[in-house]
Amino acid sequence: MYGDGGYREAYLADAIRFKMKRDQKRFWAGDNISDYVTEEMKHKLIDEATEAFELVLDRLLIDRETDPNSQGTARRLAKMYFNEIMSGRYEPTPCATAFPNDSEERYEGMLVVRSELRSMCSHHHQPVNGVAYIGIIAAEKLIGLSKYTRIAQWCARRGTLQEELCNDIAREIMRATGAKDVGVYVQATHGCCENRGIMAHSSLTQTTVLKGAFKDDVGTKKEFFDNIKLQQDFAPR
Ligand SMILES: [Zn+2]
Repeated sequence: MYGDGGYREAYLADAIRFKMKRDQKRFWAGDNISDYVTEEMKHKLIDEATEAFELVLDRLLIDRETDPNSQGTARRLAKMYFNEIMSGRYEPTPCATAFPNDSEERYEGMLVVRSELRSMCSHHHQPVNGVAYIGIIAAEKLIGLSKYTRIAQWCARRGTLQEELCNDIAREIMRATGAKDVGVYVQATHGCCENRGIMAHSSLTQTTVLKGAFKDDVGTKKEFFDNIKLQQDFAPR
């Protein structure tokens, strides 16, 4: 792009941002942008983020040239963001093969899966550690048990707010299973309350999203929370 005083888009990240803006694609910290970022692009993006993190370290007056612990930190940070703590932004939806659940002996009960979560708050980029309890009344399709956790972790590996995360998990589980009756309960501790700010020793926060029967039917709701209690007694946190 010429014209703006010779300005040219030299960075791949800028070109991708331009494209997303043009398409009116939202790219908030908790959004998945895998349609715009291929595996090959990631290497270039990691190089560009490394350069930017080097600048951050320089501005923080950290000697990344002679401090052996700070050498390579910029690249480690860039890789960690793309491949680990924010990987759920860049990776496509985990494929969850659905099996039919429409025979006469179909499972009609409630299923409650407990999934460990590691996430990060969008505000301070501090760790959020917790667990999601995903409840579902099976519809016509079933997905493998491990897929619930894969989907929950894919939603969590981004910059999130716990309230948003809870909504995201419910939405993606509904999408993958076609179920309308879904409940998600997330319990997590927040680094941004423990490591800074109020320095609370316990920042346990709970959020719940209830859909369909989980919301409207008192019995279903009670069964969900009773199941969570049973799980917590079995694996206390
Ligand atoms: Zn925070």
